[in-house]
Amino acid sequence: MEETKIIDGKSIAREMKEKLKTEIEVLKKEGISPKLVAVQVGENEASAVYTKAQKKNCENLGIDYELAVIDKGLSQNEIIEHIQKLNQDNSITGIILQLPLPEGISAVEVQSSIAVEKDVEGVNPANLGWITYGKPKLIPCTAAAVMELIETTGIDLYGKEAVMVGHSDIVGKPVALLLLNKFVTTSVCHIGTGERGNLPEYVGKAEILIVAVGKANLVKGEWIREGAIVIDVGINRVEGKLVGDVEFEEAKKKASWITPVPGGVGPVTTAMLLKNTVTAAKAQYHR
Ligand code: NAP
Repeated sequence: MEETKIIDGKSIAREMKEKLKTEIEVLKKEGISPKLVAVQVGENEASAVYTKAQKKNCENLGIDYELAVIDKGLSQNEIIEHIQKLNQDNSITGIILQLPLPEGISAVEVQSSIAVEKDVEGVNPANLGWITYGKPKLIPCTAAAVMELIETTGIDLYGKEAVMVGHSDIVGKPVALLLLNKFVTTSVCHIGTGERGNLPEYVGKAEILIVAVGKANLVKGEWIREGAIVIDVGINRVEGKLVGDVEFEEAKKKASWITPVPGGVGPVTTAMLLKNTVTAAKAQYHR
């Protein structure tokens, strides 16, 4: 068997950002200026790490960035009203909602209030719905990153067998639909599959395996089909180290391509947010 190739998310992300930077320079000359606003409800240490990175990434590319921290004591309706004001501001082309939200506030309800064309995380039900119709507009960043990583292997997707482990609303389900749209035969596994003990059987069928669960080493290397492409979305901290959901070293012995954790899906997800921000800005100016 040929040696397994590591899918280098960091270098893919770097290339994406370089291309975006050049594209933004051209857009600005045409009068198109992307601006991203991150809405954060209350102060949050975990969120601060992300928003700091978002700001730096945006600034490096020439995207205006603003962090709007709103009062933790606001009701859901008041938060939605705040977002509606941002929707109406024509200088803002992208809006993201930082999670977690205070208890009692529904992320889905608030995300639904983000204007569809400014929803750069692709979490508004309309953007998720467009994927079902095979006409995606703004795709959830991690799902888009998974597709990008698969496509960099050069595989012809038509008719291939894929298995998506995990059926979350913004990773597993959209990835499964995106694969279906490319005529990939797609199985979706979840807790029911795992608890029935059927995970090894499904994993063993996959020419393309994507795992997004959040359980360290859930997928054993020995289950993996010879020559499979393995995309590990999971991020877990074990004894101070970040690991994925797939037993990396064991899986490497079977896979043809595999993403590492860290350095696989994560950096490309970040780059996808920037790409969506540019896509959204262009669509709004060209309306
Ligand atoms: P989530 O909403 O918690 O979904 C986890 C999914 O795994 C659920 O569909 C769950 O099924 C399923 N599941 C749980 N136990 C299982 C088992 N034993 N066998 C099979 N399926 C099982 O998580 P998520 O938001 O999709 O994230 C998943 C992981 O990816 C997390 O580690 C997260 O940190 C990581 N992540 C990484 C990135 C990145 O940029 N790298 C981005 C997003 C997420 P039920 O719902 O039926 O219980």
